[in-house]
Amino acid sequence: MNRLAKIRGTRLEESLINWQDMNLAAEGLWSSPDQGPLDAVVPRGTMPESDRSVRDEIMERASPLGKALYQDPYSPLQRHRRQAMGATGLCFLENDVDPHWAGLAIELDREPDREVRFQRVADRLIKHVILHEIGHNLGLAHNFEGTYDALNYHDNFWKLAWSSPEEKDLGAYDEYRHTTVMEYMSSKGLFADFLGKYDEAAIRFSYGNQVAVFNGERIRPDLQGGNALREWRYRSDYMKIPDYICENCNNVKARQEVLQQRTWVDFDPQDPPQFEVPFLFCDNYYDRMTPYCATFDYGSNMREIFANYKQMWQGYYIFNNFSRDRLQPFGWSLGSAIIPLYYPMIFVSTLAQYYYYLDAVAPTEFDSWDLKADMFAALGSGLNLAAEVIAIPEPVRLCAGWTNPTTYLPNYYFQSGCDANVSLDYAEPGTLSVNDIQVPLGPARPSTIRFSQDYEEYQIDMIGSYFDKANILWLLGMNRPTLLRFNYDLDLRDRKSVV
Ligand SMILES: [Zn+2]
Repeated sequence: MNRLAKIRGTRLEESLINWQDMNLAAEGLWSSPDQGPLDAVVPRGTMPESDRSVRDEIMERASPLGKALYQDPYSPLQRHRRQAMGATGLCFLENDVDPHWAGLAIELDREPDREVRFQRVADRLIKHVILHEIGHNLGLAHNFEGTYDALNYHDNFWKLAWSSPEEKDLGAYDEYRHTTVMEYMSSKGLFADFLGKYDEAAIRFSYGNQVAVFNGERIRPDLQGGNALREWRYRSDYMKIPDYICENCNNVKARQEVLQQRTWVDFDPQDPPQFEVPFLFCDNYYDRMTPYCATFDYGSNMREIFANYKQMWQGYYIFNNFSRDRLQPFGWSLGSAIIPLYYPMIFVSTLAQYYYYLDAVAPTEFDSWDLKADMFAALGSGLNLAAEVIAIPEPVRLCAGWTNPTTYLPNYYFQSGCDANVSLDYAEPGTLSVNDIQVPLGPARPSTIRFSQDYEEYQIDMIGSYFDKANILWLLGMNRPTLLRFNYDLDLRDRKSVV
């Protein structure tokens, strides 16, 4: 019997929903009643197809019943990518594949010759590495904000930005979501084999004192470029960029053009050009100290970045934790499960501290930024992931304790290890073998936990790890953000007039 279903449409169901639930269900696109009616939220293709109104969709997702029905570890876009890759024959259980490769997977699927496929990927990887290293030779540092700088993404990204999910897959939309070969992209690398807009701008500025300016006919005449536009970009959702810089872009083609139309001018710091194109940049020094400066992050807003991190964790999790004897909580290896957990949790911790800081320093201004609802939605998802990790049972391989054979300890406390072939010295002879005390893993199951339909208990269907639990608490408490990174970057101390 599905008792939870009985509350559908009742006042009880409505009373269980608060605005924070609504914010999460709307994926950060709606933050509070003050922002306006919920019906005004444009779902941007994120809600299930239905004849019902947007408001009903979001209400249903936000309610306890909706959470049971719609809980999904992946962002809708990532889920779509995975389906597209599954259709090309990729098997996710054996070896999870970064969903950002959907476009490449579809392209390679059309090539019957295995050697040709291999060579195409190898060529691309090598070309990326060579371009990256030549960049260093020319003096370029890493730029870990290249994947966040939507204003300067490859034109193909904006060509597809308003397309259907299917068109995005075929067009390799995700593979154009960056500005530079000097970035470390995504969990398994997204190997850009072409220079980005940032690369050209960095070289032109360093060697020729030139900066890019917008020169399209439709550029808003009162647009302030440079740092002012960069600040606006940090505060505002990336899909608003074209309409912000454009005077009257009422169609997709005009939006694409206004972003593309640029030229180069000599830079005079005493008289900077009005329509200067700003570029986002951060190097190793700030890695993982701001919410958008990080190696292996991917996404153009906080929700997308978190969804990608979570995908990394869930993609690698089962795979890594089936070998349960991990000794190292850290290691420079994506094969080490802690890295996929370490990244999202550092992100959540940094995000929370930024959120707190901005809310304390400029509450009124912060309220009006898209960033606030975006951060809030990502934080909610992040804390849900933390709770999920902590709630996962621990099927660790155990050994009888040294002094008390009835106490079983995780095997990593044993210097000589313990396995099925080693006798248990401290156990009663003949009464117990190591096999007896190992918890069987059972068949692989979906990598998430959910509410069961009748809301009585969590349905737990993923194995866990001792280290993940311990580390998650530590990582959430880490104090490492650099809140005042650059003078233009969310530093509100010099803007007391608006505080
Ligand atoms: Zn490098």
